[in-house]
Amino acid sequence: MHPPVIGLDGDDTLWHSESHFVTTTARMVELLAEWVHTEAAQDHLIAVERRNLARFGYGVKAFTLSMIETAIEVSDARLPASAVQQIIDWSKELMDHPVDLLDGVAATVAELAAGHRLLLVTKGDLLHQESKVARSGLEGHFEGIHIVSEKDPATYRRILDRHGVAPADFVMVGNSVRSDILPVLELGGRAVHVPYEVTWALEHLDEGDLPGEVTRIDRLGDLPALLAAGLP
Ligand SMILES: [Mg+2]
Repeated sequence: MHPPVIGLDGDDTLWHSESHFVTTTARMVELLAEWVHTEAAQDHLIAVERRNLARFGYGVKAFTLSMIETAIEVSDARLPASAVQQIIDWSKELMDHPVDLLDGVAATVAELAAGHRLLLVTKGDLLHQESKVARSGLEGHFEGIHIVSEKDPATYRRILDRHGVAPADFVMVGNSVRSDILPVLELGGRAVHVPYEVTWALEHLDEGDLPGEVTRIDRLGDLPALLAAGLP
């Protein structure tokens, strides 16, 4: 029997991402303090992001538009243009931020690549994701790199078909139960959950929603031993 093909998520599985959005959100909340208190500003932003998701998709540019829209709404359109510029400048900082790999990721991906075919499956702005993949130094370990607009069963089916991989021979590894785990289980694949320190509100599912057959590990570095022992 062949070793399973491993799918790896990018944001918050290989490199830090959500923590940068959390920092930017905190700055925006401060910018809006004269109009709205912290919690209301955060809730408003999440509601706007949810409303915009189907149109704008994921990533920094969608986040930026949602921040601007939130700021206009909570200020009753009294927000000065300089504040809009401030938000745009933060979004440029997010785009330009160096790629910070999570601890141990470089060594673990190299170790996994020695014994498995690896696929990277990540979603968000195409240009930003391409740039992060290129700057990660990990690109050469992957047989395929797939930047997608949504991680649903049809997306995973298309990727597996492209590589000639049966779902039963595929294990997806990532931090998001909603995007990395559930759609792959639905196809008949397996999955391993590696939680990140923070989860974006729109990806959030309670711990109770993790299906029983999914193994949760604390860090990606625990994956090779788990695979060697055999996944359930
Ligand atoms: Mg992720």
